[in-house]
This record gives sequence, C-alpha cells and structure tokens, in this order.
Amino acid sequence: MTCLVRDSSTVKIEDKIVTVKGWVQDIKNLGGISFITLRDRHGTVQITLPKKKVEKETFKSLVTLTRESTVIITGEIQKSDQTALGLEIIPTDVKICSRADTPLPMGVVDKVNVEIDTRLNNRFIDARRPDVKSIFELKSIMIKSIVDVMTENGFVQVNTPKIVGSGAEGGSTLFKIDYFGRSAYLAQSPQLYKQMLMSTGLDRVFEISPAFRAEKSNTSRHVTEFISFDGELAWIDSQKDVMNILETVIDQVLRKVNERGKEQLDILGKKIRLQPVPYPVLTYKECVKIVNDSGIDLKDGDDIGTREEKIIGDYMASKRKDLYFITEYPSASKPFYIMNKDGTSYSCSFDLDFKGQEISSGGQREHRFDRLIARMKELELNPNDFVFYTSAFRYGMPPHGGWGIGIDRLLTKMLDLPNVREGILFPRDVSRLSP
Ligand code: ATP
Repeated sequence: MTCLVRDSSTVKIEDKIVTVKGWVQDIKNLGGISFITLRDRHGTVQITLPKKKVEKETFKSLVTLTRESTVIITGEIQKSDQTALGLEIIPTDVKICSRADTPLPMGVVDKVNVEIDTRLNNRFIDARRPDVKSIFELKSIMIKSIVDVMTENGFVQVNTPKIVGSGAEGGSTLFKIDYFGRSAYLAQSPQLYKQMLMSTGLDRVFEISPAFRAEKSNTSRHVTEFISFDGELAWIDSQKDVMNILETVIDQVLRKVNERGKEQLDILGKKIRLQPVPYPVLTYKECVKIVNDSGIDLKDGDDIGTREEKIIGDYMASKRKDLYFITEYPSASKPFYIMNKDGTSYSCSFDLDFKGQEISSGGQREHRFDRLIARMKELELNPNDFVFYTSAFRYGMPPHGGWGIGIDRLLTKMLDLPNVREGILFPRDVSRLSP
C-alpha cells in the first residue's frame, strides 16, 4: 500500500495510510489509551494509541515523549467523531527526530499571558503559536504584494549599499562602523542612492531592505533595524504625483493582503478595513489646530510627536479615516534633500499616517544642483562629504520625488498590533541585540 506524506490540513480518510510530521503539542495518557495532538505548520491532527492495538515499542516511545518533541509518524487513518478533522491516526511506525527538554521556556498553547520580553527571548517557540506565525505569513504576503503592485506600476526593484560613507537622515541616528580603519556607517535609508538612480533613466525604482537607526528612544514604534520600502519616481510635477502613486500602492497592497491572507487574518480574528482613495490631506497648520483644540499647546513650527500624532489619529478616526497625509511641514524640520515650496517656509513634503502613527514620509526632492548645495550649507552640512551624491545632479537630473515607508510599522498598524516588535521576528533595539 502506498504511504502518503501529508500535512495536517490535507489528511483525508481515503488516504488510509499516511505519514505526518510535526511537534507533539500535547499528550494525554488514560491508561489503556493515549492521545497525541501533533501540530505542523497547518494545524493539528490526533494520533490515537489504543494500547492493545499499537506495537509495544511504538506505544512506549510515543507516550513517554515530552511536549514539543519532533516526530514522524506513519499510521492508519480511522474515522472519529471526537476530532475536528473527523479522523484519527493509529500509528504503525514512529521516528523521533528530537526530544524536547523540559520544562519549556514558555508554552505554545497554554492560555497564560507571557511577557513580550520572554516571548522575544524564545521566538523559536513563540512563533510556533498559530497567531504569531500568521503575523509573519502576512508580512511575507504583504511584501510579495508590494513587489507585485510596484512591478505592475512600472517600478524596477533595486538594491543599494547598506554600508555607506555618509548618512541622509542626520548624524544622531547613524551607526558608526570600522571599515578597514576608515569610518563608515550602516545606511539609515536608501535615500541618496535611489535619488542618484533618477539620473540614470531608471526613472521608477523601489527597494525593500533593512535600514538602521541608532534610535535611543525606547518606544513601541522605534527599533534600530527595520525594513524600509522605498519608492522614487522621476518627471513629477509636484509632490502630489508621489502621494497619488503611494496611496494607490498602499490601497492595492491592503486589498491584496485581505484576499491572499484570508486564512491568516481569520486565525488572528482580523479584517483589514479598506479605505477608498484618495486619502484625506491635512496641512501641518490644520494639525496644529487639531492638537490645540484638544487642549494641548503646540506652537507653529513644533514637531508633531507621538502624543500629537495620536490626537490627530483620534480626530481622523472620528471621521472613519485610518490613512491620511500631512503636508506643508516647515522646511526647518525636513532633511536637506527635500525641496522647499518657492516663496514659503514650507517644504514639498508629506507624511502618511496610519491610525495615529507616521508610517511614511516623502516628498519632492531638490533636483537643482545649486539649490541643493545651498540647502546643505544652510543646514551646516559639508557638500564635500556628499560629492558621490551631488555629482549625479550636475549632468542632467530630472525632477523627482519618492517615499520611505516602514514595512514593520505598516504591518503593525494594519493588524492593530500594540508594538512594532510584534511584527519583527528578531527585533533590534537599544537593549536587544539577541537572539
Ligand atoms: P519618527 O518620527 O516616527 O521617528 P522618522 O521621521 O524618523 O520617524 P523617517 O526618517 O521619515 O522617519 O523614515 C520613514 C519611515 O521609516 C517612517 O515613517 C517609519 O515608518 C520608518 N521608520 C523610521 N525610523 C524607524 C524606526 N526607528 N523604527 C521603525 N520604523 C522606522
């Protein structure tokens, strides 16, 4: 008789004899009969061991197993009214792959609340939980959807260096490394490189890659290594062109995740709320007013911090808007590469916020060489440190703009997770460097 290797979701009564592979989630010994719940990536299946029917050695090796040991079990399928699948497997052969130590550092199915630190310290067990696993399957689905949508919209996927000679987002969050005796840094974003690519004629590019920030802030939304999804496009008329494409991309990605990730969303008990495009736009000034109206003092020019973002998020939620742009930020608060709005003190930039948290910032870049150099000097940066970048502006640079979006924050907000670390398998932050 042929023996089929099956996962728990595909075991069928007609298969008669199957081999299943997985983790021993639970063992119940009732004397004359024992039950094992075997878990694999797709779910669980019941292994039933009537003492009289199962070969002595097989019985003994199985009932003495510890929880979370890995096994390969071959057995006969029988109908059962007692199990969710309507069947059970009576083992004829067993191979123990590895016996788990006891006690486990944390349970997989126990209902006890485990601190996030303990969970992250033991991610290899934590991610065995179906809900946690679903988060990372959804992240994979989300990234695949981004690649699909960007490619469909004519963007070319690129890779730029992560070891760099200078940063784009200000010195205070640069990680310095020793590069054969010279100073180098871990890239804070692909900003300067994706802009240089605009002068090559590859006029729509995107990248999904790690970005590093020496963020000392210990918050639920900051980590020191995150995955950044950057897009850049040339021949734009204004930042509005960038906003249009970004909202189209986000909208399509959320729709695709809703469809492709249905199984995982069901496990998490979530449904992504879709919001029609165009997304609403608030100006910085309007945001200052919303914050002030809530009783918090915010002056024109002040940073919109976590607390203020939350207030604005609550205000937009009252209008059933999860996603919204904030535009017309004061130039003083924006990096050197952002274009200023002529004749004003505002920048041609935007943030995209999702449920009260910034998930993306972008805008039109300064493509005119002389103005770019002047802006660097204004911000007390030495243009000589950026010659590798500014050279690309001297020999024909089209007007361009783009965005950077934190994949981990997008995922966190999409699933209403309380902490960005929930969406990162092995997060890095001020205190966490392992595992
Ligand atoms: P914030 O003000 O929230 O610290 P930022 O203004 O420093 O963010 P940008 O430099 O504009 O962020 O980066 C673009 C996007 O990259 C952010 O909107 C966010 O999604 C993501 N991002 C930036 N820094 C971090 C971080 N430390 N941890 C996680 N994601 C980040």
